[in-house]
Amino acid sequence: MEQIRMAKQIVRPCVIAGNWKMNKTITEATRFIDEFLPLIEKSTTQIYLAVPFTSIQPVVEKVKGSSVIVGAQNMNDASEGAFTGEIAAIMIKEVGAQFVILGHSERRHIFGETNEFINRKVKRAYADGLQPIVCIGETREQHEAGQTQQVLTQQLKESLAGVNAAQMQKTIIAYEPVWAIGTGITPTPEQAQEVHAFCRQVVLDNWTDKTSLSVVLLYGGSVKPDNTKLFMEQTDIDGVLVGGASLSPISFAQIVNYQNATVKG
Ligand code: PEP
Repeated sequence: MEQIRMAKQIVRPCVIAGNWKMNKTITEATRFIDEFLPLIEKSTTQIYLAVPFTSIQPVVEKVKGSSVIVGAQNMNDASEGAFTGEIAAIMIKEVGAQFVILGHSERRHIFGETNEFINRKVKRAYADGLQPIVCIGETREQHEAGQTQQVLTQQLKESLAGVNAAQMQKTIIAYEPVWAIGTGITPTPEQAQEVHAFCRQVVLDNWTDKTSLSVVLLYGGSVKPDNTKLFMEQTDIDGVLVGGASLSPISFAQIVNYQNATVKG
C-alpha cells in the first residue's frame, strides 16, 4: 500500500523527489536506474526523479513498472514558438514526463526568473497536463533580516496566482531555503516544520480549507540519508526534494528507505 499521511481526514502522499540538475548523460542516467531500482524494490513511497531533458525518454523506459515517475526541471510558459533554446510542456510530456520543477532557486537567482514568469509556467503546466513542483525559499540575507515569512507569502501568492482549488490539490510546493541548497547547512527539523506550517496556513488563507490540508509540502536543502527521517517526522513535511544526494543510487535509495535508517545524534 502507498505510504500516506493523515491530517484531519485528509490523506497526503509521501513524496521523495530527486533533482539531478545538469548532471548525467543518457549512459550515466540509465546506469543509475539499473543500480537504483533493486535498492528501492520494497519501497511504497512515491519517487519523483527530475532528470535532464535528454534523459527523460530513456529513463521513462527504464522505470516502467516501478514506483518512480519521471519529470523535467524546467520548461517555457509558451505552448510553442520562436523561443530559441527553450522547451515546451507538450514536448516533455510526449517523451513521458509527468511533472516539472518550476521556480527552483537556481532558475530564480541564476536565470532571473520572477514569480510572474513562474506563474505563467505553472498555468502552462496545468494546461498541458504536467504536475508542477513549485519551489519557494528565502535567501540567507532575507533569512537573517527576519523576512522569511514575508518572502514566502509573496512567492506563494504570486507564483500560484489564479490557480484554482482543484489544481492546488495537485500542486506540490517545495520549501527550499536558498542558504541550505548545496551547502550542507540545514534548518533544524523543528524550524523547517514551523516554516512548512506557515506555508500551509498561507495556502489555507488564500485557497480553500480542504486544499491547505491536502497540498503536499516538501522540504529541500542539503537533505542526506542521515537527516531525512528527522525532516520526514515533522507534521507538515510530506516529503523531501533532494539535489546532490540524489546523484548516487545508493544515497538516494537510503533516503527513499529512510524509515529503515538509524538516525545519529
Ligand atoms: C536542490 O537543488 O533542490 C537541492 C535541494 O539541492 P541539495 O540537496 O544539493 O541541497
